[in-house]
Order: sequence, then structure tokens, then C-alpha cells
Amino acid sequence: MDESLRELYQEVIIDHGRHPRNFTKLKDYNRCLEGYNPLCGDRVELYLLVKNNKVINASFQGEGCAISIASASLMIELIKGKSVEESRQLFQEFHDLITQQSPPITTLDNLGKLCALGGVSEFPSRVKCATLAWHILNTALRDKDTSETVTTE
Ligand code: ZN
Repeated sequence: MDESLRELYQEVIIDHGRHPRNFTKLKDYNRCLEGYNPLCGDRVELYLLVKNNKVINASFQGEGCAISIASASLMIELIKGKSVEESRQLFQEFHDLITQQSPPITTLDNLGKLCALGGVSEFPSRVKCATLAWHILNTALRDKDTSETVTTE
């Protein structure tokens, strides 16, 4: 990866890590799920309003390292307004991005700013930080009414 791109990616992570978007509890939601990454101590609570197989609105709260918070913030920006199927597909693509050294170009197109987290693939111990919010999302989209805690273990 060239140096200017690496710097740009770092800026995105720092920006979203310090100033996460949609960092609130939704007033109107029908899925709420908490996740925990015991390896790092990251804790994220996800709120979703899912109607007609579509993610109408989403937000999160929690605390953790910059990577876990930035990943949750970027994920929510990406999945808002997407269908449940599309969100699942993005989960798969994001998972591929951070576990493969050179993901396909279509993945990079679809994930946009989330590509900033691609560098995590070089640090296996941080992969769980980056995927925490996504595992919560995946479980929340699978079940009709969920109120359990997801862990990365
Ligand atoms: Zn972490």
C-alpha cells in the first residue's frame, strides 16, 4: 500500500474512533444487541430499526479501542437504508477484506471508507476488534427478537 493511502486510511480510523457517527441510542428501534470482545475489552451495543427486510435506521453505543469504535461507526453509515440481504453480503465482504491480504476490487468498491480497516489484516489480534460490530449486526439480522450478548470468542 502506498504511503499517502496509508495515511488517509489512518485519518479515517482516528476520525471515526474519536468522533463516531450515529453514536446514540435510537428512540425507535426493534433490535438491540450487545457484543463484547474480551481480548481487548471492546463493548458495543447496536440498535437497529428493521422493517420490511430493510435496515431503516441504526445506531450504537459502547466503549473500546479506536479500531472497534471506528469499525462500528463506518459500518452503520454503510448499512443504513440497505436491505438485510445487502447488509449480510457486506458483512461477508468486510470479513474477507480484513482476513485476506489482497481482496477483490469489487469488495473495495462496495466497502468504500471501510477499506481503511483493511490494514488490520496484518494484525490478527486486532481482527476481532474490527469485526465485533459486524458479528453483532449479523446476529441481530438473523433473529427476529434478540436480547443476548455476542462475544468474539
Ligand atoms: Zn479493540
